[in-house]
Amino acid sequence: MAQIIDGKAIAADVRREVAVDVAALSSAHGLVPGLAVVIVGSRKDSQTYVNMKRKACAEVGICSIDVDLPEDISEPALVAEVHRLNADPAVHGILVQLPLPKHINEEKILSEISIEKDVDGFHPLNIGKLAMKGREPLFVPCTPKACMELLSRGGVTVRGKLAAVVGRSNIVGLPVSLLLLKADATVSIVHSRTPDPRSIVRQADIVIAAAGQPMMIKGDWIKPGAAVIDVGHIVSAAAEQDVMINGNGDLIKPGAVVIHDADIDSVDDDPAQPVGDVHFAEVSKVAGFLTPVPGGAGPMMVAMLLKNTVDAAKQGWGICKLQ
Ligand code: NDP
Repeated sequence: MAQIIDGKAIAADVRREVAVDVAALSSAHGLVPGLAVVIVGSRKDSQTYVNMKRKACAEVGICSIDVDLPEDISEPALVAEVHRLNADPAVHGILVQLPLPKHINEEKILSEISIEKDVDGFHPLNIGKLAMKGREPLFVPCTPKACMELLSRGGVTVRGKLAAVVGRSNIVGLPVSLLLLKADATVSIVHSRTPDPRSIVRQADIVIAAAGQPMMIKGDWIKPGAAVIDVGHIVSAAAEQDVMINGNGDLIKPGAVVIHDADIDSVDDDPAQPVGDVHFAEVSKVAGFLTPVPGGAGPMMVAMLLKNTVDAAKQGWGICKLQ
């Protein structure tokens, strides 16, 4: 049976470390890290994420600066808001909750965030540096960073290993592939056009499952003893009526509210069944290490956001006073 890498427990360790750092910054320099969490509109899933991130900030002593903007805000007005936050010395990190309404160009907005405050790590310059040998980004996106932290704190060596990443999105698959490469793994990236993905995944010592396809990775996809990180999601109870998952676990009705594993702390009472990209029952019999859903990558993603914010503050970007 696989050793379970407990993301919730590891995330709690990281949060404790962050809280110690925050207290030290405050007592030594009078500095309180500030994270501006920007939300546009009132999407239920986005509200849930934002509330969870704001709550997590408060728990470790980071000052959460709430910026709630109307759905119909114009792109220039949102850019102006980002510029205002860039210039505010009380703000060390800026997070713009995605997705943005359709009339706003996400790429434009993300590239307007100062790279010194880009705690989500999505600025093209930070991603570019991540992709280049010998360059270090100021910030690494939180979910990919969470995967690497789960591997290292879970006792999995990356250097010299064969890794397979299932998914190539800008926010998870691509950056985690780059991180694995930087850590000296040999990396294969599997996507929706990859013929016979199973044969590629089966060679890997490390598998990162980030396809958004419930229970796609079966037991016979996994090399015995491999480490498997499931970047899965859960389906909220609110959407239960609108959700259909078939026998293979691969169908979610369009328009259903899907909430990532990251929310697990705030939806503990949620009766809906969590669904990951990995078939846990099968894979746990073959893998050497495995993260669960919930309680794997999700809680770690939030912990990494807090860590990035403290790192931003350490660069000495002014003072934010807690109210
Ligand atoms: P996207 O939909 O943006 O990307 C999915 C990727 O998976 C794409 O590259 C796609 O390929 C690939 N893919 C889809 N179907 C298949 C398939 N059958 N075989 C191989 N590859 C496939 O998703 P995200 O990257 O945003 O999210 C991925 C997963 O991670 C989701 O389950 C999401 O809920 C979860 N997530 C969890 C977070 C957490 O903190 N726990 C945070 C963010 C996401 P192609 O490029 O060809 O379309």
